[in-house]
Amino acid sequence: MTDILIIGAGTAGLTAAIYGTRAGYSVEVLEQRIHGGQIINTTSVENYPGMPGVSGAEFAGALYEQAVSLGAEIRYETVIRAELGGDVKRVYLESEQIKTAKSLIIATGAKPRKLDVPGEDRLLGAGVSYCATCDGAFHRGRDVVVVGGGNTAIDDAIVLAGLVRKVYLVHRRNEFRADASAVKRLRRYENVEFILSSQVEEIRGETAVESVVIYNQEEDSRRDLSVSGVFIAAGHEPDNGLFADEITLSPEGYVVAGEDCQTNLPGVFVAGDTRTKQVRQIVTAAADGAVAALAASSFLAAKAETGKENEL
Ligand code: NAP
Repeated sequence: MTDILIIGAGTAGLTAAIYGTRAGYSVEVLEQRIHGGQIINTTSVENYPGMPGVSGAEFAGALYEQAVSLGAEIRYETVIRAELGGDVKRVYLESEQIKTAKSLIIATGAKPRKLDVPGEDRLLGAGVSYCATCDGAFHRGRDVVVVGGGNTAIDDAIVLAGLVRKVYLVHRRNEFRADASAVKRLRRYENVEFILSSQVEEIRGETAVESVVIYNQEEDSRRDLSVSGVFIAAGHEPDNGLFADEITLSPEGYVVAGEDCQTNLPGVFVAGDTRTKQVRQIVTAAADGAVAALAASSFLAAKAETGKENEL
């Protein structure tokens, strides 16, 4: 039985693994895709203290190496069910294995928010993408749409402006959520057209994206833009349905916990973007990972102490 089982190998999960192993406990991390989480989609991390300009992939790689070198085991498995209420935490995997642990940290992060418009699901991977750094190169010399007004959308538009012929940045308001400095940087690109107060209504194409219908709510007008790609950067949302029976979730689906990362269940902690919190940044995900692992360590130490007392 593992001492600390962590679900999710993003910044929060891998930081928890570093702290858990350093506290002397056995640590296993389950990851359904690739380690690193959301950060791997960032070309340049500008706001992690002491590491300005490191690429997301480098950052994720370094975290992984650090966790593994300290003794954490990372397994690429999909969790399909969890029983977390008892003393032994049980996690059921798609591979039909069952993992057991004395404590557990939920670090499942968040998934890209969909626009829920016609064509989005059908043309996913055929021009529709949630990752500009992954898929931008397929559109070299062509025109693309980026959707969103946050830092990710602006970063994506900057990456794409250097690759493609033209970028249409479509944002539903006429003000940006993104940092003013990032927007200013994007405005320097001549091949970027800002389409504000506008929403994507439909993504069209037979077998690949051919055009995008944009509705401007201020002018009550529509445009059909011929593009080969649509990069959606509309933020993220949590994906905690697996735990909904036992763990208290907020109405938005985040695991309810304070700065101590303690959930409603003893021995179950939460770290990173999937927790209820104000600021979702790499640095706060890392901080959560540390707090959750130290809380799990204290829980295990207290349990071991009680066990010894019972033996006396
Ligand atoms: P975000 O800040 O939540 O922005 C999401 C954007 O998508 C918002 O502009 C939002 O519009 C728009 N949006 C949401 N739902 C939509 C819908 N259904 N249709 C159309 N537009 C929709 O998400 P993010 O940009 O992914 O950033 C997440 C966090 O990571 C932020 O704290 C951000 O600062 C940080 N980040 C930092 C960096 C960096 O420092 N280099 C890079 C990337 C991300 P409204 O504004 O109208 O709500």
